Amino acid sequence: MPSPADDQPIPAGAAGEWYWHPDLPIPVSPVFGWPPRPVAAAKWLAGSWLAISSTMIELALAFAIWWLTQPTWDALQTLAPGWILTIWLRNLVLLILVAGSLHVWLWQISAQGDQTKFDPRAMARHRGPFTFKNQVLDNMFWSLVSGVTVWTSIEVGYFWAAANGFAPVLGLADAPFWSALWFLLIPLWASFHFYWIHRFLHWPPLYRLAHGLHHRNITIGPWTGLSMHPIEHLLYFSSVLIHFVVPSDPVHVLFHIYNLALNPAFSHSGFEKLVTKGRARMALGDFFHQLHHRYFECNYGTAEVPWDVVFGSFHNGTSAATHRIRDRKRRLGR
Ligand SMILES: [Zn+2]
Ligand SMILES: [Zn+2]
Repeated sequence: MPSPADDQPIPAGAAGEWYWHPDLPIPVSPVFGWPPRPVAAAKWLAGSWLAISSTMIELALAFAIWWLTQPTWDALQTLAPGWILTIWLRNLVLLILVAGSLHVWLWQISAQGDQTKFDPRAMARHRGPFTFKNQVLDNMFWSLVSGVTVWTSIEVGYFWAAANGFAPVLGLADAPFWSALWFLLIPLWASFHFYWIHRFLHWPPLYRLAHGLHHRNITIGPWTGLSMHPIEHLLYFSSVLIHFVVPSDPVHVLFHIYNLALNPAFSHSGFEKLVTKGRARMALGDFFHQLHHRYFECNYGTAEVPWDVVFGSFHNGTSAATHRIRDRKRRLGR
């Protein structure tokens, strides 16, 4: 199938408007389903935890960064430019490595062509509401300048507070069962937190002030993930404040932060799978959130914690769901 031109309009309605899409209707996590389906729930969790996945990459990075570059607790007790700069630099490098390499592979050199690409359109250049009139530069600017700054500030604030006894620290070896469970629960907490701050961000005054910047992007790519207004960055990274209440090891906190900061590069990549030599190697994009970028008033959360199903804002990718969400939008007056 030839790749459609840059500005080609996409007809509304049917699932066929996508260049490629997963089987419809898309599922949500069976972990919270009723009646319980333990086999389906175990399979769903295995997709994140027993395969090469963004979750496993973030977990490996959390251990590696802690091992190789974490300042000592003694150093962290005093706010000093040296270690603050170390954390800023490692965050900058991590985001450039993850979002940059996905962008180059999928969009710049098109290494897998259009295989599992959701939206046929290219990134906007010389047009649209974007900073610098260029979507990729706009997305990189907001991710690297605002995103990395807010992310680093919150990370620095947490480690300074924990080093001074203001946040409960519990070593992995001190409570191995709790530590393992907490790793499993962190992405669920992050998903729960994201649903609620995201609904708040769609409150019209806040949408106009802040969240509209992220929604400039209808076609999305790896750099879109963390392309947010500073107010949205603050709300988004506030998920980490739970570690002021729940006893955690520094590696839990790094995993949580990398889940927040790096996962959007995968989930916004615009492709469902990473494909090499004709074979799907790992899950990338998130059709659930891709639908949010096209239809706005649906899928505020993630497929991990199905609040959208509970509150009637779930779009499962079918044209029936599109009509239902458009009715809902009309009722909300948006
Ligand atoms: Zn998004
Ligand atoms: Zn939104």
